[in-house]
Amino acid sequence: MSKSDSLYADYLIVGAGSAGCVLAYRLSADPSRKVILLEAGIRDWHPLIKIPAAFSKLYRSGVDYAHHSVAQPELFGRSLFIPRGRTLGGSGAINAMIYIRGHRDDYDGWAAMGNPGWGYEELLPLFRKSERSASTNTHLHGLDGLWNIETPLTIHPLSRIFLEAAQQTGYPIVDDLNDNVAHGVGIHPVNIQNGARHSPAHAFLRPAMHRANLSILTGARALHALWESGKVTGVDVNLGRRTRSIYATESVILCGGAIESPLFLMRSGIGDPEIIRGMQIPVRRALSGVGRNLQDHPVVPIAYRTHKGSSFDGEDTLANLIRWWWKREGPLCSNLCETGGFTRSQDDLRAPDLQYHFAPIFFVDHGFVRPKGNGISLAPILVQPQSRGIVSPAPNDHFVPWIDPAVYSNSSDLEKMVVGFHKARAIMEAPAFDGWRLEPYLPSVFLQSDPEVVEYLRRNTELLYHPVGTCRMGPDEDSVVDTELRVHGVDGLRVVDASIMPNITRGNTQAPTVLIAEKAAELMLR
Ligand SMILES: Cc1cc2nc3c(=O)[nH]c(=O)nc-3n(C[C@H](O)[C@H](O)[C@H](O)COP(=O)(O)OP(=O)(O)OC[C@H]3O[C@@H](n4cnc5c(N)ncnc54)[C@H](O)[C@@H]3O)c2cc1C
Repeated sequence: MSKSDSLYADYLIVGAGSAGCVLAYRLSADPSRKVILLEAGIRDWHPLIKIPAAFSKLYRSGVDYAHHSVAQPELFGRSLFIPRGRTLGGSGAINAMIYIRGHRDDYDGWAAMGNPGWGYEELLPLFRKSERSASTNTHLHGLDGLWNIETPLTIHPLSRIFLEAAQQTGYPIVDDLNDNVAHGVGIHPVNIQNGARHSPAHAFLRPAMHRANLSILTGARALHALWESGKVTGVDVNLGRRTRSIYATESVILCGGAIESPLFLMRSGIGDPEIIRGMQIPVRRALSGVGRNLQDHPVVPIAYRTHKGSSFDGEDTLANLIRWWWKREGPLCSNLCETGGFTRSQDDLRAPDLQYHFAPIFFVDHGFVRPKGNGISLAPILVQPQSRGIVSPAPNDHFVPWIDPAVYSNSSDLEKMVVGFHKARAIMEAPAFDGWRLEPYLPSVFLQSDPEVVEYLRRNTELLYHPVGTCRMGPDEDSVVDTELRVHGVDGLRVVDASIMPNITRGNTQAPTVLIAEKAAELMLR
């Protein structure tokens, strides 16, 4: 430890991911408040973190937990890959950098579920607070926040063709995908600055690192909570070879993410009594919702071959790496998934339930498979799944998650994905792609009937790395935290991360997670 008296803090934050970095910055802004931030992973020095196009090369590296789900019955027993960041910045250090807030109905929906203060209009100023954008729409966007959000001016020619193809298929091209779009396509806003990833660690933690009242400990895994007279007063931390107790006078704030946070609660005796007794741990607080309500976005790839040299495939050359390194120029500045959009499975829906990600490159099996030649990929994504899964500790190791996302356990999800598949393929078949598109690669033949598409979906659906909901906010007995993100019935403990979302948002989940941290900071500093 660098600071001699750092075993005590006002605020003890567990997890330096997307949410933890924001909280550390906000809570340590007052020099009279001492903050300790614990991160199980290492410093974010991995050379590929900053290179936008290299994000998938971080999978299964030293900064990825690289979890897997249990076998999924609706997917022919396949297990799904679930990467999670393990470094300063958390999953925000390995993600695809797409900045999508979701639709206003997401937040109004949270409020309607008994969470006053969490409606869209109330949260909008907090979205604006973090954001540094060049947008002229200042009602929606912040200009002078810490987190750089930009909509690239230069994109790959095939990303432009995608927009044209979508337009030919009936989608308007919108300037701002964060302006509550129900049906339309556009360029993805990204958290990239000068050609390099601008993760929450870069944006929020770096400016706070020098503060004397903030201590950041990496390689520090919180084991479980410490209790005194029914109140959480600190945590036991594994610091490599030794275990220490660290105390918080105000609050322990759990920011471990939707997979790790429920595990920490259960190791601390908070959760479903049956599971906790099975772990041979005394039950401190019975909360059956801990680890339940797991949601993620199912996604399926559709890919075509394109002419030689036409896409990003094969652009990860030494020459391009040098170009990125010296000038922050060239294809490695792109997050690859430059364009996308939203639509509805039924025309009468007010808000979208389907999203698209287009990439002018083959993106197959999380990028682990690299087909020869060039290609394009379009992924329909179900952004309002009704299936609900569960996370709990593995029977033989309480630090390993047993993850069952229960994909398609609600059959309506599969039906909507069939619609999404047909809609996405129609875009790929549009005339704009005619001069570029060769034969289909995934699926390799032109599937006609719905049963064929269903079979393809069951064999190829993956998750978009957006787990949420496992420490759900709400007033009812199945929820875990209240509207101030305090764990129900437990003094001194809050959860602030993607796990508190009652329902998953219609889009990528990092912007909503940063928002949750901004809201929590506001509530705590009030
Ligand atoms: C590969 C990938 C691509 C993605 N792409 C996008 C995208 O393009 N756009 C988008 O909006 N979202 C994307 N997401 C999702 C987004 O990154 C997450 O929703 C968001 O980062 C979640 O933030 P969090 O704070 O809840 O958790 P995390 O960022 O995962 O942070 C949790 C942190 O807590 C630490 N931790 C956990 N347990 C402990 C413990 N016991 N003690 C100490 N530390 C602990 C972890 O090591 C980790 O650093 C992607 C995610 C992944 C993995």
